[in-house]
Amino acid sequence: MPELPEVETIVRGLLPMLPGKTIERIRVLHSDVLRQPSRDFSARLKGRDFEAVHRRGKNIVARLSGGGVLVVNLGMSGRLVLVRDEAQTTHPAVRFTLSAGPPLIYDDVRRFGALEVMDESEWAVRDHRLGPEPLSSSFTARGLHADLSRSVSPIRSWLLDQRRVAGVGNIYANEALHLAGIHPQRPAKSLSEHEARRLHRAIRRTLSSAVDNRGTTLRDYRDSSGIPGNNASKLLVYGRDQEPCSHCSTRIHRFVFGNRAAFCCPNCQPVGVSSSNG
Ligand SMILES: [Zn+2]
Repeated sequence: MPELPEVETIVRGLLPMLPGKTIERIRVLHSDVLRQPSRDFSARLKGRDFEAVHRRGKNIVARLSGGGVLVVNLGMSGRLVLVRDEAQTTHPAVRFTLSAGPPLIYDDVRRFGALEVMDESEWAVRDHRLGPEPLSSSFTARGLHADLSRSVSPIRSWLLDQRRVAGVGNIYANEALHLAGIHPQRPAKSLSEHEARRLHRAIRRTLSSAVDNRGTTLRDYRDSSGIPGNNASKLLVYGRDQEPCSHCSTRIHRFVFGNRAAFCCPNCQPVGVSSSNG
């Protein structure tokens, strides 16, 4: 599932390509990915220019001439690609013909993704509901500790809640918790100030190095040119059940809670409150 680093990589690929292009034609092949009637969706986009594109959490937000935004959430397996050779897309759901260059194609094998055209005020409400951007200055260790202290949720579940911190999904939540030496099931409020600081640093380090590596491709993720990311081999625990921990060689343990797989090193991430200060 694409998380902050994957969506950021896609947006960086679209940035030099999309702004200034006019949407000349919209072809909806699978309307179940739209959050509004197909006719309405197309009418609100046809003839508009893409003015800018940015990321917010796991969303791609494209600003349109005349006001409004196209918001794309990639769900489990969505891709937003600009490709001349359409054989590179396997399950196209929406195709945008642009005034120049290759078409913009939303491709999604499982179709849990969502596309929606909103006006500015609707987007502002949605934006406001999302937590801070973890790579921005609004995400602070002090703020994180204060927020954690109000919740009894397991820390991994807390990190997946987009209202708490925007853009973190299961891969990077597991990775950051490992780096911080914190067990995924620890209640959020049990983290000390020191641990919250460690987690804050680990989240930022995990996400920014994944951005540098152009995202993690386990199966479906591709950037805007259809190219896989390079971060999968850098993962420390995610998907590495029974492999040795890179820090202490203890076997990594996979278990499931909250309907999601968790991965941790039982030695580096003790279940109880850690007494170490490292
Ligand atoms: Zn370990």
